Amino acid sequence: MGQSTKTKQVRTVERIVAPPAPHWVGDGFRVHGFLPHGPLDAERMSPFFLLDYNSKYTFQPREIPYGVGPHPHRGFETVTIAYKGRVAHHDSRGGGGVIGEGDVQWITAGSGLLHKEYHEKEFTRTGGEFQMVQLWVNLPAKDKMTEPKYQAITNAEMGRKDLSGGGYVEVIAGEFERVKGPATTFSPVHLYNLKPKAGAEIKLSFPAAYTTAILAIEGSATINGEKKLATDHLAVFANDGEDFTVKADEDAVLLLMSGEPLNEPIAQYGPFLMNTNAQIAEAIDDFRQGKFGYLEG
Ligand code: MN
Repeated sequence: MGQSTKTKQVRTVERIVAPPAPHWVGDGFRVHGFLPHGPLDAERMSPFFLLDYNSKYTFQPREIPYGVGPHPHRGFETVTIAYKGRVAHHDSRGGGGVIGEGDVQWITAGSGLLHKEYHEKEFTRTGGEFQMVQLWVNLPAKDKMTEPKYQAITNAEMGRKDLSGGGYVEVIAGEFERVKGPATTFSPVHLYNLKPKAGAEIKLSFPAAYTTAILAIEGSATINGEKKLATDHLAVFANDGEDFTVKADEDAVLLLMSGEPLNEPIAQYGPFLMNTNAQIAEAIDDFRQGKFGYLEG
């Protein structure tokens, strides 16, 4: 993403997607399931598979944490980004932690783990506004059975690049203007929080083949000087060019994802994301035999 002297094609917006009707994941996450959905299927959006967005929602105080109980994953990574409220997690390998506002939890499920995801205890007691994203990043075939791992990324650890027009860009993974993000990935992925002040314009560039999208978390923006992206909407870019601009209509928080498509077969069943149906059958079998370990509910 360095400066280039050659003229590049502008990457246009293919579609703006309004937030789909929300559904509940357990009792803790009220999400708009942007992906996989309609034309934005797994092949189109690779390496990204699922995008669940809990738009701002106020939880009432209570004692027992809201959330989703023990469940398995295999073959991909779950990336949870907390914008409001605090999320906790525990897994069958003894891992776990709490992510606060602005932090990211990057879990490589790999060969498989059980985990549970819920609201942090004290946040549950006080209640309040909750807003988060969970993104599933698919793993290349050769890495699907990699050892599970957990990356807790605090906001302070993220790469940060100030914008000349005001505001800044947080780099979670990949690179923006030579500022690198802390997350390690198995295929080329860029994940940023764009945080421009009103009127600030950001120039972005990724290889044309990369699957690229922006979710407006706060505020609204104008893409390439013409396309309006409203709060809680998703812009999906065409693969017709490299460069585009994002200008904040007001102070904004925009989640940008761009990744190289894996171009491998996709087989999915619930929480398993593999390449073939035989591998899915094996995952179900392994799960039934307790090979994902044990986790108390
Ligand atoms: Mn999960």
